[in-house]
Amino acid sequence: MSKIILTGDRPTGRLHIGHYAGSLRRRVELQNSGEYDKTYIMIADAQALTDNMDNPEKVRENIIEVALDYMSCGLDPEKSTLFIQSQISELCELTFYYMDLVTVSRLQRNPTVKSEIQMRNFEASIPVGFFTYPISQAADITAFKATTVPVGGDQLPMIEQCREIVHRFNSQYAPDKPVLVEPEALLPQNEACMRLPGTDGKAKMSKSLGNCIYLSDPADEVSKKIMSMYTDPLHLQVSDPGHLEGNTVFTYLDAFCKPEHFERYMPDHANLDELKEHYQRGGLGDVKVKRFLDKIMQETLDPIRARRKELEKDIPAIYEILKKGSEVARQAAAQTLSDVKSAMRINYFEDMEMIRRQSEKYNA
Ligand code: ATP
Ligand code: MG
Repeated sequence: MSKIILTGDRPTGRLHIGHYAGSLRRRVELQNSGEYDKTYIMIADAQALTDNMDNPEKVRENIIEVALDYMSCGLDPEKSTLFIQSQISELCELTFYYMDLVTVSRLQRNPTVKSEIQMRNFEASIPVGFFTYPISQAADITAFKATTVPVGGDQLPMIEQCREIVHRFNSQYAPDKPVLVEPEALLPQNEACMRLPGTDGKAKMSKSLGNCIYLSDPADEVSKKIMSMYTDPLHLQVSDPGHLEGNTVFTYLDAFCKPEHFERYMPDHANLDELKEHYQRGGLGDVKVKRFLDKIMQETLDPIRARRKELEKDIPAIYEILKKGSEVARQAAAQTLSDVKSAMRINYFEDMEMIRRQSEKYNA
């Protein structure tokens, strides 16, 4: 069976270091590994509209931001198909048919949907489109027969829901020869990257919460955000023992620090374990740790910013890439939709056998 990647992001803002740690960095590695037959990367504008229906301009303006962030991180249109969700109308059709395979109570139990509804204060006025977005996400994944979905930890319930839909579809409509493929989530290897917290210490760095370090932030802005980051409220004097739980600066170090960074920027400590020990013992100031993190982040972001500057010079070329990618993606989705309709027995005009049988019945 071919190995196929599908993943994506909502164009609700520029991408941040949470996206990078949680999914983007891994995608680029997978793309370059040569182990996958196809890689599809989707800008999920239709999904973004489910909770931004009153702000289509925001979604529209952020398509280019996400595309620029993708390519500056190393996603390469020669190797990956970059496309825009709304341009693939087959995805809506698949969603419509999958809706018959999911119950309302199953959607209500989806923990990510639950917490996102709370976060957005939807209460009783949840848009139906938002409530059902896990189903449309299942359409996105299955349309490309994706085997592998590299995502952050918040997306696990979505992949689980998708697997259930695939299972129900195949057992109902295609028991002998499965039509849809059950995908696997590919989670970050490191706990800190599963759900990178915001600079304010809140549970998740999220475009919607305004607690982000963006991949395209200028160097001085990144430094400013790092220097004002949340650490340990009990660590008042340098000599006080520090705590690591909930200490965002250390979580970011877990996500981004590599052994060679010590040699370059913190030669008086051997490794991250030793740095943590020193902090917990007391005698290591927040400012020193933050400066270290700043050096690491600048080293990580410098090449990304430089590539972005180059890419920004030719915006029409980026739209051309997205247009071509959308055409390629559409063909793949159309093939799956055709398989789905045959399995569901709604391919009337191709079913010559049925037409002949009914004709014989009336003209015997
Ligand atoms: P929004 O607030 O509009 O939902 P978002 O910041 O949550 O935006 P998404 O576009 O929903 O971003 O997520 C895209 C991908 O990035 C998903 O795979 C998600 O798991 C991952 N991701 C988003 N935020 C984080 C984070 N803080 N840590 C790790 N992964 C993340
Ligand atoms: Mg999100």
